[in-house]
Amino acid sequence: MKRNSLIISLILIILNTNAQVPQAYLQNQSLNYSQVIENYKILANKFPEAKLVEYGKTDVGKPLHLFIISPEKEFFAKKLQSENKTIILVNNGIHPGEPEGIDASLLLAEEILNNPKKLKKDLKNVVLCIIPVYNIGGHLNRSPYHRANQQTPEQHGYRGNSRNLDLNRDFVKLKSQNAQSFVQIFQEWKPQIFLDTHTTDGSDHQYVITLISTQHNKFPKILDEFFTNKMIPELFKEMAKTEYELTPYVYPMDYSKGPESGIRAYMDYPKISTGYASLFNSMAFMTENHIFKDYKDRVKSVWLFEKALIKFAKENSAEINNKQKLANEFTTTKREFAIEYQLDTNNYTFFKFKGYEAEISISPLTQIKRLQYNTNKPYEKTIRIYNDYTATKTITAPYAYVLPQAWPEIIDRLKLNSVKMKQLAKDTLLELTVYYADEYQKSKRQQQGQNTLSNLKISSKQMQIQCFEGDYVIFTNQVSNEYIVQMLEPEGMDSFFKWNFFDEVLEHREYFSPLGFEENAIKYLEKHPELKEKLKEAVIKDEKLAQSHYAQLKFIYDNSEYSEKSYKRIPVYRMNNEIYIPLK
Ligand SMILES: [Zn+2]
Repeated sequence: MKRNSLIISLILIILNTNAQVPQAYLQNQSLNYSQVIENYKILANKFPEAKLVEYGKTDVGKPLHLFIISPEKEFFAKKLQSENKTIILVNNGIHPGEPEGIDASLLLAEEILNNPKKLKKDLKNVVLCIIPVYNIGGHLNRSPYHRANQQTPEQHGYRGNSRNLDLNRDFVKLKSQNAQSFVQIFQEWKPQIFLDTHTTDGSDHQYVITLISTQHNKFPKILDEFFTNKMIPELFKEMAKTEYELTPYVYPMDYSKGPESGIRAYMDYPKISTGYASLFNSMAFMTENHIFKDYKDRVKSVWLFEKALIKFAKENSAEINNKQKLANEFTTTKREFAIEYQLDTNNYTFFKFKGYEAEISISPLTQIKRLQYNTNKPYEKTIRIYNDYTATKTITAPYAYVLPQAWPEIIDRLKLNSVKMKQLAKDTLLELTVYYADEYQKSKRQQQGQNTLSNLKISSKQMQIQCFEGDYVIFTNQVSNEYIVQMLEPEGMDSFFKWNFFDEVLEHREYFSPLGFEENAIKYLEKHPELKEKLKEAVIKDEKLAQSHYAQLKFIYDNSEYSEKSYKRIPVYRMNNEIYIPLK
């Protein structure tokens, strides 16, 4: 009897070690952090085709994990890239109140690994990389009350990470350790396909899952055509075969009129996951599950979407790799970069949208009229999809940028993003084009703890700049050109300048006082009669200037060599043509 119970215990232990991933999602539960990681560890220990790797820290102190499924048991990214594998990276739990992808990706990993034949067949030429939980701090902070608009799952994580950052706004600033570790993963694996999983609210409709595809006009034409005309339609077709048909993310042209006013494409800036990924010609998506649907359906729909992505990658692996290679070649020699876009409202396609009729009814809570969607009145209406953006401002890349070593935060970010840099071999005086931020606005509302800059008025001029041994030269002949230009040009979509990295130059370090400057000003005007003349003319035209002692001294200061050349000068200089300079 005793022996029997021992055997039973042993069997139970073995069964437990090989335990199936908990099907908690069926009971309206999402897995907590330790359940997720423990289950990935079990899979990695059991299957030689899988590996769980730690990549740097996150803000909560725990490491960021990457789970890799590689049918040929090869886990060295460079080797897999040289073998032309198509790499898919799935990021989960960036907003841990939106945990469908966390549960779905684990179910997917288990399903693939437990079926060796399927593994070899489904992942032929494909490597699947999964970030189990990205915002670990937020996922550890569980409650039923973080999401006021959402009733399921029962417990979920918090949007902010452990320093209250929204990680889906941090791909440029890299304020969080999470984002720095993510960039290491992204740059090492260079996925051709990227997916970030989310949940959305807003208007009600019949779809469990909606899809944001990265804004396609940002891609080189060769990749855009493949992405827009082949990949996206195939994914929609594949999902239409399941019980979870896809719709483009419901971003109405007019919120008060809902989706019937048309749906517009979302412009994902580089601070957003997909906007970041697409800077590197990665075909990027965000699934947005609809919060009013059952949790089990939401999880299942992401699981099926991930399968659709894998199927597409497997069937088109050679073409995906070829298109991305050509796109990368294009980016390497690209000169004109769009830094501002506007939705093209003249261009649209039609889509059969399955919605619910909106109605005005009396609220049982406040007894006041409010808008509601009647799920008993489903409709199918043809609506317009506005999917194109037009570039409204472009910039020509210089031959190279020069960046003083005084900005190590920038240098670190460029290095993390695989940007190649050279350093000056000796102190050198260089003739460069410099930018001045003549006007800008600091946002009143903070974004990620920052008062970001917008409404820039930038002027440029040629100037001799004293550069020093060790300063950086960044050539624009790189595969990361789009990242380089968008980040270093002050007017780039989410530039380092806009993200406050250079705010120090917006302050005066030297200035004048009327008492001390007057004597020097008199001497200066004697030596520079042209300025004396300029002041005279200005005084005639401007009464306020004529009556202000201070304003006239300021006029002289601003127009003389006393003025601070570095004030409002953005310390990223343009070398427009090739100059011979000794480099390290
Ligand atoms: Zn989200």
